[in-house]
Amino acid sequence: MLGRGEAGRRLEGTHKLLARGDVDYVSIKVSSTVAPHNPWAFDQAVDDVVAELAPLFTRAAAAPTAKFVNLDMEEFTDLDLTIAVFTRILDRPEFLHLEAGIVLQAYLPDALAAMIRLQEWSAARRARGGAAIKVRLVKGANLPMEQVEASVHGWPLATCTSKVDTDTNYKRVIDYALQPERIRNVRVGVAGHNLFDVAYSWLLAGRRGVRAGIEYEMLLGTAQGQAEAVRREVGSLLLYTPVVSPTEFDVAIAYLIRRLEEGASSDNFMSAVFELDQNEDLFAREQERFLASVAGLDGLVPPTHKVADRYAAVPGRSRARSRTPRTPTRPSPRTGTGPEPSWTGCRALGSASPALPPRRSATRPSWTVSWPPRPRPAPRGACCRAPSAHGCCTAWATKSNCAAPSSSR
Ligand SMILES: Cc1cc2nc3c(=O)[nH]c(=O)nc-3n(C[C@H](O)[C@H](O)[C@H](O)COP(=O)(O)OP(=O)(O)OC[C@H]3O[C@@H](n4cnc5c(N)ncnc54)[C@H](O)[C@@H]3O)c2cc1C
Repeated sequence: MLGRGEAGRRLEGTHKLLARGDVDYVSIKVSSTVAPHNPWAFDQAVDDVVAELAPLFTRAAAAPTAKFVNLDMEEFTDLDLTIAVFTRILDRPEFLHLEAGIVLQAYLPDALAAMIRLQEWSAARRARGGAAIKVRLVKGANLPMEQVEASVHGWPLATCTSKVDTDTNYKRVIDYALQPERIRNVRVGVAGHNLFDVAYSWLLAGRRGVRAGIEYEMLLGTAQGQAEAVRREVGSLLLYTPVVSPTEFDVAIAYLIRRLEEGASSDNFMSAVFELDQNEDLFAREQERFLASVAGLDGLVPPTHKVADRYAAVPGRSRARSRTPRTPTRPSPRTGTGPEPSWTGCRALGSASPALPPRRSATRPSWTVSWPPRPRPAPRGACCRAPSAHGCCTAWATKSNCAAPSSSR
C-alpha cells in the first residue's frame, strides 16, 4: 500500500522507462502506481485510477514504434477494478488502435468468467475497428495473502483450494481462449514455468491453428535452461524482470521471496524443475498432476468463491443461516473437447467483502482516502483492506525475442 507521493514517484519512473528508446513494454500493478482508494467506492476508484494511468497509455500510443502497457494482477480485490480500468481506458477513441494487456489469475475460479467478459468486450471493440488485446494467463502469485485475508475476515478463500483445481482452471481458460474466432480478439500470453502446461498449450494451439496468437512468458533468471529450450521450440519468449533503482533494492525483496517460496513448496513445479531429467519420481509426480488436471476439465464456468453467505465456503461452518438463493452457472461456450456443458448450482454474488459489486458503492463517497490516513470511524459493516504485504517492483520491463539466456540455473 502506497501513499500518494510514493505512488506518483513510481508512476513517474514508469513514464521515464517507457519514454526510453530501448523500452517497448512495461507491465505494472495498479496498486503499485496509484494511492490507496476507498474499496467501497468502486466507481470513484475506477475514475481516479483511469485518470492516473491514462497518460501512460497516451505515451505508448504516441510512440513512433509500438509500445505495450500491461496491467498486472495482484489480489482478488483488484480483479474487477483492474478490468474496469483497463476497458475504460481502451474504450477511449484515442486508444482504439492501441493493443494493451491485462493479467488473469487461474487460481481464481473467477478467471474464466473474466476471460469471457474480456473476450466479449474486445470483440465489440474489434467490430468498431479497434485493436486486439492480450491477456497474460498466470496461475497467481498471492496465495498466502489470499489465505491470510480469508482467515482474518472469516471470508471464503477466493482461490481454488487445491493445486490440481488451479491447474485445471488454467487449462479451462486456455481451452476457451485458443479458438480462431477468439484469438483474433484476445491474444494469449501463457506465463509460467510448468513445462507440461507449456507443452499442452503449444500442442493445442497447433491443433487449432492459432499459434500466431499465443506467446510464452517466463521470469528472467528463474529457469534459464528451460526458458532457452522453450524459446527454441516456439520461436520467441518474453522474459520479465523487475526493474528497481539500486538504491531501492529492498522494493525487490518481496518479488525475490515469492520466487524462493515458489521453489520451496513441493506443490509447485519449480521444486522439481532442475531434476526432472534425472529423477523419475519427480517426473512421475508432475506427470500425474498434469493428467489429473486434464481429467478435471468439464466445460463449466466455475462459480466464484466469494459468496453472499460468508460462511458458506468455510468447511465446518453452519450453512443453516444462509438464505442465499441458488442460481445456475453459465455454461462455458464449448470449444470441441471434453464433455458437453451442463448446469451446476452456485450461490448469488455478494459478501461482506468490498470486492463484490452488490456491496461496494456505485455512488461517490462523502470522503476519500487520504494518506497518511486520518483516524476516522469506519463505515458501518466495513472492514479495512489488509495492507499489501508483497511490496512490489516499480515496473517490469521486457524484451521480446530475448537473446539466448545462459544455459542452466
Ligand atoms: C512472466 C510471468 C508473469 C507473471 N505475472 C504475474 C502477475 O501479474 N500476477 C500474479 O499473481 N502472478 C504472476 N506470475 C506468477 C504466477 O502466477 C505463478 O505464481 C508462477 O508462474 C508459478 O506458476 P507455474 O504455472 O509456473 O508453476 P506451477 O508449479 O504449475 O503452479 C504453481 C501455482 O499453482 C498455484 N497453487 C499452488 N499450490 C496451490 C494450492 N494449494 N491451492 C491452489 N493453488 C495452488 C499457485 O498459483 C502457484 O503459484 C507471473 C509469472 C510469470 C512467469
